[in-house]
Amino acid sequence: MKKIVILTCPKSEDVCTGGGCFHAFNHRTQRFAAYGEEELEMEAFMKCSGCGHFPGKDKGLDEKIDYILRIHPDAVHVGICCCHDGRDRTLCPEVEAICHTFKERDISIVFGTHSIFEGPESLREIESKTDREGV
Ligand code: SF4
Ligand code: SF4
Repeated sequence: MKKIVILTCPKSEDVCTGGGCFHAFNHRTQRFAAYGEEELEMEAFMKCSGCGHFPGKDKGLDEKIDYILRIHPDAVHVGICCCHDGRDRTLCPEVEAICHTFKERDISIVFGTHSIFEGPESLREIESKTDREGV
């Protein structure tokens, strides 16, 4: 069994129910296809804490991060809504910093849920590792 966390943008809630993420998770499509038949448990559906809020500088965000670190999921899947430009799919620096905090604690970062994107190079090594191992 693998523990999964999804990280998304709070602004997406204006137009999004999160259904795309849950559909991909429940039906093992797109970024979740690599897990095959393996049992998965969704541990959290985390939001970043808004533009300009970075780890170490926002108490509430740090509490959320600590919670995820205690769960220590096998992978954090980053939603496409965490890219501030849907065209070039550039990850927000706030989310990138959050992902580095997880990566430093040996939590795999996977870019995408119902949509797949590459993510920044500095975090990509983990992604390819998880692709190979089907995490
Ligand atoms: S930093 Fe990015 S993911 Fe977070 S609220 Fe702003 S646009 Fe959304
Ligand atoms: S990744 Fe897609 S479905 Fe999931 S929260 Fe973001 S916009 Fe909504």
